[in-house]
Amino acid sequence: MRTKIIQNCGILRQPEAGKVAIDEGQDVLIRGNKIEQIVPTGALALDQVDEIIPARGMICLPGLVNTHAHIPMVLFRGLAEDVPVERWFNDFIWPMESNLTEEDVYWGAQLALVEMIECGVTTVADHYFYMDRVAEAVEQAGTRAVLGWASFGSQGEAMLERTAEFAEKWHHQANGRITTVIAPHAPYTCDDGFLKTAVTHAKQLGIGIHIHAAENVSQTRSSLETRGQTPIQVLAETGILDLPTIIAHGCGILPEDIQLLQQAKQVGVAHAPKTYLKLGVELTPIAALREAGIPVGLATDGAASNSTLDLFEALRLMTMMQKFVYQDPEQLPIATALEIAFGGSTAVLGLEKAIGQIKEGFLADLILVDLSGTHHQPLHNPAASLVFNVQPTDVQTVLCNGQILMQDRQLKTLDKAHIFQQVQKSMQRLAVRVPDKRIQLYNP
Ligand SMILES: [Zn+2]
Repeated sequence: MRTKIIQNCGILRQPEAGKVAIDEGQDVLIRGNKIEQIVPTGALALDQVDEIIPARGMICLPGLVNTHAHIPMVLFRGLAEDVPVERWFNDFIWPMESNLTEEDVYWGAQLALVEMIECGVTTVADHYFYMDRVAEAVEQAGTRAVLGWASFGSQGEAMLERTAEFAEKWHHQANGRITTVIAPHAPYTCDDGFLKTAVTHAKQLGIGIHIHAAENVSQTRSSLETRGQTPIQVLAETGILDLPTIIAHGCGILPEDIQLLQQAKQVGVAHAPKTYLKLGVELTPIAALREAGIPVGLATDGAASNSTLDLFEALRLMTMMQKFVYQDPEQLPIATALEIAFGGSTAVLGLEKAIGQIKEGFLADLILVDLSGTHHQPLHNPAASLVFNVQPTDVQTVLCNGQILMQDRQLKTLDKAHIFQQVQKSMQRLAVRVPDKRIQLYNP
């Protein structure tokens, strides 16, 4: 197996909850797809190493993990702005999504993967359509992904079978980088029977569920009014919470839902602060969930609502919004923010024993961040810089599964110019909105 050494970097460590440290002058030895050793620079003989990645002055971090996205939606970036949630769905996104072809999804995914690699994101839990094409794009890009083919109750249960076929075909593919889940859209777009069938498929395949639920307080309220249950109660009752589950948003989770989530087998909540700020909805109750031991992870959602797939921005907004909402600068301190970005996000995906730490035996999903830019100087506090100052362009080098995907800002697996060209071709066609031609109606 080929070996690589990341030479002379600083390593982010979180020795215990609430603590963060940077160990300077470290070498990371990678064998195949795993981290084999971390030693002080100079302690290893280099003549046996196949490749040296110089990293003096850089911080080595685990690759960032996006716990909920619809990456091909970069195709709709900027097309649904300054509108409330209902109009966002009914007048913009769902009409435009009726224009999508699987070829569009493929190139949209490639464009998104370029953006992700360029800002240090190595794993995404993605929830969209034509996911076999997204899987192909991920396979080529070299990143890691948890993929679920989105389905609506209105498509009928045959659609669930199709999504299950996809899940079966792609689970553990691309050298183990791709795993799959069943991805019913949400309790307000899928009836209970449909959700129960989704559970049956997931159980048969031994995989989990990725679903939007309690996306905002008004959804929870209308669920209580129309059926007397919160969306989280619906997840519990339909058996979803008996399986590993990624819940997108959960901004409408009520205090009485928390106990149900605690009883769940393995559940985590994806938090996408920029989307909530732009749509003017509530925030995920991060503190209450974490106090109850339920992991919360960072997310961007799709770029149609979030504008970018930049998780450093999500990290910064998450932290600042907690301080703002509680009017308390001691809320969500730097160490906790970094703990959510790595430990929290990987736990939401059930991958916390494989990625998210720079540790011997963990998968080599690593990024090198350059903190020498003017906006970090003088560098008194690298951990604070990582949360509050980093720009995507500070990410210099990205590895996933031991493979270099970008080095010194040069992409190694994707052809950016060609991808831009392909996406341009479909731009105008995708933006067309035909009244009443939409894939769904938002009416929770
Ligand atoms: Zn979403």
